Amino acid sequence: RGTFYIVATPIGNLDDFTDRAKRVLHEVDYIAAEDTRHSKRLMNHFGIDTKLFALHDHNERDKAAYIASLLSEGKNVALISDAGTPLISDPGYHVVNYLRQEGHKVTPVPGPSALITALCASGLPTDRFSFVGFLPAKSKSRRDEMSSWVPSLGTVVFYESTHRILDCLADLEAVWGDRVQVALARELTKTFETFLSGSVSEIKQILEDDSNQTRGEFVMMVSLPAVEEDHSEALKILKILLKELP
Ligand code: SAM
Repeated sequence: RGTFYIVATPIGNLDDFTDRAKRVLHEVDYIAAEDTRHSKRLMNHFGIDTKLFALHDHNERDKAAYIASLLSEGKNVALISDAGTPLISDPGYHVVNYLRQEGHKVTPVPGPSALITALCASGLPTDRFSFVGFLPAKSKSRRDEMSSWVPSLGTVVFYESTHRILDCLADLEAVWGDRVQVALARELTKTFETFLSGSVSEIKQILEDDSNQTRGEFVMMVSLPAVEEDHSEALKILKILLKELP
């Protein structure tokens, strides 16, 4: 039986492609790619001429059985996405779920992911965090989602696109005001890599003043305020009650 490899590819800087990732992509019989034209260019750059086929959100349920049959024939197959780690806001979940149920071997070949790359350098708490993928496209649903966040989620991390970044900051400001700390990572591992941190209004101002800051790819991170319990009133009452005790 063959192995299904989940292979991470660079999110910008091609030097982040690991030796093992390149070797596996070279050695497998097939590469399942989100966008074969996009991945073909990357493979050509590294002299990898393994056969590619498309695996995207619209066909992955159908492709699961096909991949299982390839593995049963002893073929090895790798999954890559356009950038970063497959399955992290990218296709592959249905395939991996199916292959695991069918008892196939699934092996990760780790490497870059925008999520971890952003978080580790953000300066926000990393001991507990929640990744929420992409927020809804509509402002109303986005605000509803933001309102549902509770401190126990830890740092909330999500992906955002260039054309929604300002609207997203406006919604964040409407829901949380300046009670949250924000870190915004842009163009990670690329020439214009930028980290901004501060209150929502500060970051919104920077983006409004310089449209260059709204270009590229973003990871947004939000640290929610801790709920400070106010015990002072309870203590006052307790003292009064204690005086009354025999
Ligand atoms: N699977 C990928 C990963 O592991 O990072 C993420 C795929 S998701 C479809 C693409 C989103 O990831 C972008 O819209 C952006 O929010 C984020 N992203 C990817 N590369 C990035 C980079 N170099 N800098 C900042 N954000 C990035």
